[in-house]
Amino acid sequence: MTRFNRRIFVFGTAAAAGALALGGSASAAIAFPFTLGVASGDPLPDGVVLWTRLAPAPLNADGHGGMPNSPMTVYWQVATDQGFTQIVRSGEVAAQYADAHSVHVEVDGLQPDAEYYYRFRADGHLSPVGRTRTAPAFDVLGRNFLMAFTSCAHYESGYYTVYRRMADDRPDLILHLGDYIYEDAATSGSVREHLGSEIVSLADYRRRYAQYKADTDLQAAHAAAPWLVVPDDHEVENNYANLTRADNSPALTAAQFKQRRADAYKAYYENMPLRATAKPTGADIPLYRRVRWGQLATFHMLDTRQYRNDQACDDGWKYCPSAGDPARSLPGMTQENWLLNGLSQHTGTWDVIGQQVFFARNADGDDAVSMDAWDGYPASRDRIQKGWVQRGVRNPVVLTGDVHRAWANDLKVDYTNPGAPVIGTELVTSSVSSGGDGADTTGIPNGAYNPHLRFYSQHRGYVRAQVTPAAMNVDFRAVDKITTRGAAARTLKSFVIQEGRPGLQNP
Ligand code: FE
Ligand code: CA
Repeated sequence: MTRFNRRIFVFGTAAAAGALALGGSASAAIAFPFTLGVASGDPLPDGVVLWTRLAPAPLNADGHGGMPNSPMTVYWQVATDQGFTQIVRSGEVAAQYADAHSVHVEVDGLQPDAEYYYRFRADGHLSPVGRTRTAPAFDVLGRNFLMAFTSCAHYESGYYTVYRRMADDRPDLILHLGDYIYEDAATSGSVREHLGSEIVSLADYRRRYAQYKADTDLQAAHAAAPWLVVPDDHEVENNYANLTRADNSPALTAAQFKQRRADAYKAYYENMPLRATAKPTGADIPLYRRVRWGQLATFHMLDTRQYRNDQACDDGWKYCPSAGDPARSLPGMTQENWLLNGLSQHTGTWDVIGQQVFFARNADGDDAVSMDAWDGYPASRDRIQKGWVQRGVRNPVVLTGDVHRAWANDLKVDYTNPGAPVIGTELVTSSVSSGGDGADTTGIPNGAYNPHLRFYSQHRGYVRAQVTPAAMNVDFRAVDKITTRGAAARTLKSFVIQEGRPGLQNP
């Protein structure tokens, strides 16, 4: 028997032993530990990250999910079929107490552009099965693929029907653009309530992730496809900018906030299907990265919180000339240069920039803009837009979250000139739940001052896009009600982005 086959044998035998243990053997020391589901992410042509976290009692206040202070072996398998008759990779990893018993398995040796199923076993318990896939090889065009993206899942505001409907589409890739959790305290009378006060400590963040991830609609979306994730502000605290807070509530010293950010980033890493290259060190987490999808698309995933200058003129919506200081940056100068260098490589037909905050100009009649969005850092936006024009980037598409509304925008180097050419496209997803049940609206806010803003909706939802060499076919999907479970999704509006022709077209 080869070593490879023996591993499979061991998995099967131990799983059978585990089943017996559930009947009363002393070898099953813990209750079912896969209460937080399974996930995969950051696909490569030959592999993907598999994730789970053991938590038999997920809501324990210490953040350790009912796990003992000792390591536990977690076995994993990857198969080409859902029944696991064709197992192609397997192994084991030690889940550590210091990592809240999370595991990140970087599988390699898989075929490019291929679908796989994966599962885990720990202490005799088998996990749910997840579906994932690899990216196409770097040197092939790759088949058409379906991506879906969303953001902003405030737990108390409603159920995660949006996640469920994303899973129903069986996309090849899901992007989450931030506000995966919210840090605020329980609010009585909500659809469902956060546990505890505003989260500040590592234990708090770990338990908050556990509360969110215990949701079965969210688990279904993770189990449906590999994810590319980037956090926004609420994974730490509302509207923080690097190490500057929006306010001093709860009261913390600078050192205490730095520790809070370190704890928040550690919990983020523990709970997301990220590679070890994204593992935080203290209060720093190296998250911005590129993921390639053959020669069809390159995903440039940005971090617009960790390195930004503080919001100008304080936060909020205002007219603020000093925001335009060219020394200010939203991604930070290092990340700006990293982005432009990546865009200059022309590795994919579509250069998709996955990021958090509103990118196009959105000014009211008094030229007031959001200080927290790219409008609060216009020189930074200008360098990036002009940079991609100078580099001949044919198909830049910016994906955005944060605002709890769906928007679709044409991008321009000069937003004050309605005749200026369109040089890119922005798709803004609505939220999973933040904002509660949506409503029908007519018109586009500030549309009279910003004719490049082309679509707006207040409904909860997500965006899906079929990506082909000739076009990106975009559907804005909406779920009308989230304060009760089970609502259907519908397409509110579709656009086409044609290859070589930036901007939104009607289908
Ligand atoms: Fe949000
Ligand atoms: Ca946000």
